Amino acid sequence: MQIPFSPPFIDENVLEEVKDSLVSGWITTGPKVKKLEDLVCQYTSAQKTLCVNSATSGLLLSLAWYDIGQGDEVIIPAYTYAATALAVMHVGATPVMVDTEADFNISVSAIENAITERTKAVIPVDIAGWPCDYDAIMKVIEAKKSIFKPNSKNQEKLGRILCLSDSAHSIGAEYDGKKIGCISDITVFSFHAVKNVTTAEGGAICINLPLPFNNEEEYQFLRCNALNGQTKDAFTKSKAGSWRYDIIYQGYKINMPDVLAAIGVAQMPTYFEEVLPQRKDIYEFYRSFFQNKSWAILPPYVSEDKISSCHLYALRIKDATEAQRDEIIEKISAKGVAVNVHFQPLPLLSLFKQKGFDIADYPVAYNNYKSEISLPIYPQLSKEELQYIVDSVSSAVESTL
Ligand SMILES: *Cc1c(COP(=O)(O)O)cnc(C)c1O
Repeated sequence: MQIPFSPPFIDENVLEEVKDSLVSGWITTGPKVKKLEDLVCQYTSAQKTLCVNSATSGLLLSLAWYDIGQGDEVIIPAYTYAATALAVMHVGATPVMVDTEADFNISVSAIENAITERTKAVIPVDIAGWPCDYDAIMKVIEAKKSIFKPNSKNQEKLGRILCLSDSAHSIGAEYDGKKIGCISDITVFSFHAVKNVTTAEGGAICINLPLPFNNEEEYQFLRCNALNGQTKDAFTKSKAGSWRYDIIYQGYKINMPDVLAAIGVAQMPTYFEEVLPQRKDIYEFYRSFFQNKSWAILPPYVSEDKISSCHLYALRIKDATEAQRDEIIEKISAKGVAVNVHFQPLPLLSLFKQKGFDIADYPVAYNNYKSEISLPIYPQLSKEELQYIVDSVSSAVESTL
């Protein structure tokens, strides 16, 4: 049996919606993007949503919106995908990496200890679709208000550290009875090909800023800055008699095209109504199998105040060394099952090593990583394939440990 890790979910609706865009005479940013933005707001209760060409761009634009740059610090977890750090570095700011907890997510006490007068934002990452401890993070941010040093209009208006969620994994997850997307000041989703909802490449910025911010105005500002700081998008300009435009900011060119938004437009309702429940069923299947194995550490899934979006099934093998984990992966792969590791903590990667980050400073992140194996989780998996996966995993583990 050959089981891929994460094929995209492409059904008839997707094909029809993409075709509709292609034959409409308009293929870049226009009505499909608007529709996807409305759907994200509708399904997550976000106040405003702007679609862009990736989550990385979304993080970058959000940091730039808050005038973060040279000399500023942004707190991020060591356990994440590199984009979280790269967005910070691209605006010229310094990523301050902190350790994580056993649930894979950023440690709130480590955030508290890392905050300085230079801290302008925290980027919690909902690893595997499991929401971070947002109430505790906001409490820390509020408690450190007195040392916050604003140096721009927006920083003065918010008057504290920005909570910018990297929710690349967590569309559909819930925190405190609310959907991820309306919890943080700004939440960024990824629609990359391997994510729960995809547009091949793409991302969404959900804006939920507190008063006195006007989220509609901030949306217009971000939209303009996602398209070269131009006052009219190409769609508006294409209408008869509306050719004149102005460039009012040094914006980026990171808008999402309609032909890609069409994929997301077709996926959103199916995701929330069918695919997400199916992902939860697979989580349950894995849980019922692995909970009887003394060597298995199960990923978090549901608690009193959180429900995962089940993006990754991050299994850990109790007491496995990195070498044993690698050997287990080789055996699973030999059976035709594609698995993965999420994530190599950033201090293990060359760029961050060169910048002076040392994995010894992140013992929990390393410990989570060294025994982690992400299993396939998507609705196309049949009962037989799921059984084959768990059998392959357990025989690989039991013949190694
Ligand atoms: C996928 C991912 C991103 C980047 O998403 P893109 O849309 O590919 O830019 C950022 N952060 C995390 C945690 C991710 O997994």
